[in-house]
Amino acid sequence: MAETSDDTGKFDMASLSGKPCPDCGGAGQLRIDSENINEKFEVEKQTVITDCHRCSGTGYVAG
Ligand SMILES: [Zn+2]
Repeated sequence: MAETSDDTGKFDMASLSGKPCPDCGGAGQLRIDSENINEKFEVEKQTVITDCHRCSGTGYVAG
């Protein structure tokens, strides 16, 4: 019971404190597709997931 109300309170606070971050779309994370060439000259694709700096990973920015 306590856990549920804690989670709800968190989300409500985030929602009320601002609007969804335009950079990450409210996800709080940015996915960056990148290609690397390894020593065999093969292309390696990888997705880098990083915290969004604009909203500090919260998914919301101040209004
Ligand atoms: Zn963001």
